[in-house]
Amino acid sequence: MTAKIIDGKAIAATIRGEIKAEVEKMQAQYGVVPGLATVLVGDRKDSQTYVRMKKKACAEVGIQSFGYDLPGDISQEELQKIVAEINARPEVHGILVQLPLPAHIDEEAILSTISLEKDVDGFHPLNIGRLSMKRRDPLFVPCTPRGCIELLDRTGVEIEGKRAVILGRSNIVGLPVSMLLLHRNATITICHSRTRNLPDVVREADILVAAVGRPQMVRGDWVKPGAVVIDVGVNAVDDPTKKKGYRLVGDVHFDEVKEVASAITPVPGGVGPMTIAMLLQNTLESAKRTVGMA
Ligand code: NDP
Repeated sequence: MTAKIIDGKAIAATIRGEIKAEVEKMQAQYGVVPGLATVLVGDRKDSQTYVRMKKKACAEVGIQSFGYDLPGDISQEELQKIVAEINARPEVHGILVQLPLPAHIDEEAILSTISLEKDVDGFHPLNIGRLSMKRRDPLFVPCTPRGCIELLDRTGVEIEGKRAVILGRSNIVGLPVSMLLLHRNATITICHSRTRNLPDVVREADILVAAVGRPQMVRGDWVKPGAVVIDVGVNAVDDPTKKKGYRLVGDVHFDEVKEVASAITPVPGGVGPMTIAMLLQNTLESAKRTVGMA
């Protein structure tokens, strides 16, 4: 069997098109343009790149972005004060604090300062708490996990009743994606670095989500024939044939697993583009709530 390739790039482009149309409708009907504030602390190159990509995506769909580029030695109090000021700006419907923050900053305290109604990353402890409870809808679902579910839905994969195995239990991917699959009535198994007989557990999956940050860890013989595989991992591996000297691979050995699975996301071009599309979607939904459009 050769798997269907789940084209996250194309699906994300479709979603961005839908968002653009909604943004235009909102502006025409209510005179309101959705706005996203990005808070970047320090000069990490990767964080700068992510923020730049997010601002570019906003511009493409007509969402306004407000950039706050702050020095790496900013104090906890000052950062908290700035986030509180952004909370009060009515033209801002979503606030994104780019993680990780410098080591001297208490990340949870900053994330808790973001107004619940503007927490488009979905990392506010209350939103995460609600996501973990039955019938308590959070205002926002974290973007990468939401993107994984959207990929399954838009590929026509049924979730209810399926065995889903999630590799990884991080706050930003593994745990929230597990909760989303559970709420969609999958039977879930969450694996981590202490899981025993990992290949045997993975082999039970009808739906496998890999988010471990280990290049090509999941091999072809770990996967049940016909399983659907969502590879969240993004890992740089040396490749002298490339201009940059490296290439990106997932947590799944794509070439082996595509011969066994029924559908699989590539890396790059799978989950990655969905993360930003879901950030735009969350920002749009936040703005819709303020005008009573939701
Ligand atoms: P973390 O490092 O926070 O978590 C990794 C998880 O994998 C942990 O739960 C860890 O277990 C588990 N793990 C690590 N090694 C093993 C192993 N050998 N066997 C089983 N489990 C293991 O990573 P993130 O969740 O932040 O990210 C995971 C991957 O997803 C990374 O490659 C990251 O780059 C990518 N990513 C991609 C995004 C996108 O938009 N495409 C967005 C976010 C992340 P334990 O808890 O026991 O330590």
